[in-house]
Amino acid sequence: MLSTSDIIRNAQRAGMALPAFNIPYLPMMQPVVRAVADQDSFALIAVARLEWMKFEAKSPAAVLEEFMRWNQPNHVRIHLDHVPVIDEDKQQVDYLGIIQEALELGYQSVMVDGSRLGLAENIAATRQAVELAHRASRPCEAELGAVLGHEAGPLPPYEELFASGRGFTDVQEAARFVRETGCDWLSVAIGNIHGAISGALKDQKKVEARLNLDHLERLRQATGVPLVLHGGSGVKRESVLAAVKQGIVKINIGTEIRQAYEAALRETKSVAAAQDAVYDRTGWLIRDYFGISGNRKQLTD
Ligand SMILES: [Zn+2]
Repeated sequence: MLSTSDIIRNAQRAGMALPAFNIPYLPMMQPVVRAVADQDSFALIAVARLEWMKFEAKSPAAVLEEFMRWNQPNHVRIHLDHVPVIDEDKQQVDYLGIIQEALELGYQSVMVDGSRLGLAENIAATRQAVELAHRASRPCEAELGAVLGHEAGPLPPYEELFASGRGFTDVQEAARFVRETGCDWLSVAIGNIHGAISGALKDQKKVEARLNLDHLERLRQATGVPLVLHGGSGVKRESVLAAVKQGIVKINIGTEIRQAYEAALRETKSVAAAQDAVYDRTGWLIRDYFGISGNRKQLTD
């Protein structure tokens, strides 16, 4: 069985996106895995700490158990998304404990998020997480720059954010960060934003984000590792496809399938109908948005 690192490398070589679908509600697992397999594609299945703290994913163990129920090893791998060092509510997190637990459970890749720290502290925290993951022969993703959106309250106007480049991953810092932490994949901020997760904002349609491709090119050259785009929901399609040609490999999709699930559940009160909505949206993303139906063989051979 190919490792997640190998598959990411194959996707990078082929210039193809590797989506990572987040599972904030356990019943989303089955339709997401089924859609990926039915499209004969390949994807990561992911859960972030805030999805078991603030949504209904329950725990890393519960998500892994659900994953093993529906797992199709030719089509999916399980990834631990955002384990923040400082969380969206400014609380300290036992991030190494959570990452260690996930590695022991069998998560095939992990992420540490020290992006709320200063550079030196982010490097120190990330390096420890990378060491844990590498000791278990698993890749570790890290984040540098501010992919905003998880914090409570409204964002500043998007066009203002984009034009100012505020929070974008700094190119020199990124080179140093990758060198000193040994992280395998780097999540970058180039105009992408997370979907809101709190209050009424979490049901709102996301703004259509754009990506600064020149900045991405500089980051690609400076880091030399596969880059990750968080907040993949609602980015202009042509921006995403161009970014994939320029170093982005893994693309996180959370808000789009979560809102499909929640809206259908609200309307029909039926989990089965909500699962159908997730199946349809996931299939649409793979086939019509990323255009990667049928790519499984290319990534796993
Ligand atoms: Zn993220």
